Amino acid sequence: MRLPPFEVLEPATLKNALSMLEKHKGKVKIVAGGTEIVGLMKLGLSVPPYILSLRKIKNLQGIKESKGQIIIRSNTTLREIIESSLINDLFKGISQAANLVAAPPIQNRATIGGNIFQNSRCMYYNQSELFRNGLKPCYKAGGVMCRAVKGGNRCFSVYQSDMAPALISFNAKAKLEKSDSSRTILISDLFTGKGENPHSIGENELLTDIIIPIPKGQYSSAYEKLRIRKSLEYPLMSSAVFVSGNMNGEVIDARIVLGAAGSSPKIIDKASKVLKGKKPSNKDIEAASGAVLQFVEVADNLPVPASYRRKMAVIYTKRAIQKALKDLRKDR
Ligand SMILES: Cc1cc2nc3c(=O)[nH]c(=O)nc-3n(C[C@H](O)[C@H](O)[C@H](O)COP(=O)(O)OP(=O)(O)OC[C@H]3O[C@@H](n4cnc5c(N)ncnc54)[C@H](O)[C@@H]3O)c2cc1C
Repeated sequence: MRLPPFEVLEPATLKNALSMLEKHKGKVKIVAGGTEIVGLMKLGLSVPPYILSLRKIKNLQGIKESKGQIIIRSNTTLREIIESSLINDLFKGISQAANLVAAPPIQNRATIGGNIFQNSRCMYYNQSELFRNGLKPCYKAGGVMCRAVKGGNRCFSVYQSDMAPALISFNAKAKLEKSDSSRTILISDLFTGKGENPHSIGENELLTDIIIPIPKGQYSSAYEKLRIRKSLEYPLMSSAVFVSGNMNGEVIDARIVLGAAGSSPKIIDKASKVLKGKKPSNKDIEAASGAVLQFVEVADNLPVPASYRRKMAVIYTKRAIQKALKDLRKDR
């Protein structure tokens, strides 16, 4: 597979990058680690006339603590996140998620920004041009049909980031900059819920920072992921759990976020409510994990059946809740 022709823009400063994005709006794609976008370009699924590389912008990497929050710059690699004791100590679920992305060769190049802005996937869409040309275009390819769901009136492609659900479980925010302004929003608000176009970022915007508030008091978190092999596999279903409470395991607050359960990460308030204000019994944990089922919107468009992924949503959520609660009870 060959890359289509394109021109490379290599700004050395963020300011220059933002003005280049403005100038070539609609015709330029950002490349961070390139582990996702280059594959899409080779398949002909993204054919931008310009690519803007972040490689030379030195100060877009790093992790620091400031005013009760941790700031991860967008071009920080997953390897740096895995090796950060700050992230591992404060946000176990985020560390676990980064450790489970693909395998070390990808983690060494892949960035947190690129991970959040990865496109949604479907086994009928992420295919060669030859395969796709033999079929009518689906919603994601600009057509008006879904190949995974007969009569489906929308795109059912799956958003498979490992990092986004873990970050959302901590109420993390994203700082987006463009040449004349910036905005900071919850990462959960970056998603449209639409398979065709899963993110709400503007064509001239660049993610510069992930901001994670450090929770107060006793808290814990966990991330569990279903995949076929133990390496190089996107999540087929995943669950990120945050709990705060006390050492007896009484839960004050909880957030449960499903990954790969639809075209965006899903915050399952109904499951969190079951845990809040209690020292959850096994029955409560069963009830909380069972509550996620009705929010799982999956089709037969990944390498395992949708019915299996649905069941696994419950099981992986249960495991993540158990893991987080066990950690909450530990003496720190
Ligand atoms: C074999 C294989 C296995 C994989 N397994 C997993 C997995 O298990 N879990 C998982 O989550 N992912 C997986 N991935 C996907 C991908 O490798 C990761 O999501 C990675 O973190 C993407 O980061 P990147 O820096 O390489 O992004 P890139 O490929 O450079 O970019 C990805 C997208 O993000 C946009 N982007 C990048 N940086 C910014 C920014 N600062 N602001 C705005 N937009 C930006 C790009 O324009 C592009 O659209 C896998 C990929 C491969 C090839």
